[in-house]
Amino acid sequence: MPSLEYTRNGFALADGRLRLPGRVFVPVVWSRDLPSRPTSVRVYRDSLGHWDASFVVRRERADTPEADLPGIGVDWGVKTTATTTDPAFDLPHLGHRRRCAAELARAQRKMARRRRPKGQPQSNGYQQAKRQAARVAKKAARQNTHDARIWAKNLIDHHALIAVEDFKPKFLARSRMARKAADAAIGACKRELIERGKRAGRKVVPVPPAYTTMTCSGCGERANLRLGLGVRTFECTACGYTACRDLNAARTILATAERRRAGADDVRHQIASFRDGGSDAVRAGNPGPTGPGGKSPGSIRGDR
Ligand SMILES: [Zn+2]
Repeated sequence: MPSLEYTRNGFALADGRLRLPGRVFVPVVWSRDLPSRPTSVRVYRDSLGHWDASFVVRRERADTPEADLPGIGVDWGVKTTATTTDPAFDLPHLGHRRRCAAELARAQRKMARRRRPKGQPQSNGYQQAKRQAARVAKKAARQNTHDARIWAKNLIDHHALIAVEDFKPKFLARSRMARKAADAAIGACKRELIERGKRAGRKVVPVPPAYTTMTCSGCGERANLRLGLGVRTFECTACGYTACRDLNAARTILATAERRRAGADDVRHQIASFRDGGSDAVRAGNPGPTGPGGKSPGSIRGDR
């Protein structure tokens, strides 16, 4: 891949354009604002033939404002990318992502139609469809990152404690395109949230997803049965608490993190102990990685 590097005297920025030696002016589409004057730039071409410029800048420690709100819980989902304990910070699944998913599915179908049997050289039509698919995938990734940055920054600016569902997308080959698009969006948001939160000095607590959907955020009681796919409302049989399923999960995630007073690493069994007031004794006596109830963490993820 062609790549060129310029240091401070070799380039300049003016009117949103990059000036390179030899009176070369390049219009730049900015992915984000530069925090300070760049000290060098690398110009390179990627696999799709796009030219990218990456600037090296000196970054002051991010000056995040004092948090005006205590804690927030974040639950990930397909229809709503992030449901939080405060609806003002929810992130809906954005329409352009859905469009991207449809576009990508179309390009991949075209590839499949044009694919020749193994051993034969692929046609130009196939190569074209392949490039198209790569272009759409890249566009979608860029938009995810962009949306995730804006959303995460706002959330981090306002909260001192961020309890986030530690959801790990699997990107199964057989899962639907819409599901893959949603997982990619979740991945981007989770990454931004955790990185930004740590950089800003906030307390970021990942909470394992096991049982969050089944646990009552009102009283901590865990339902015996997992909620069916279509059940959007959580109803506690113990205390009568009722809430939207995702909101209840977000609240359970936050409650779990708030109960946690000790070290930073293992919260696997927090939800079981949240019900018992989060006592360390209960936590220390946890029965190992399968957790109470014998179900492995993640076995209730069918709602994605
Ligand atoms: Zn309850």
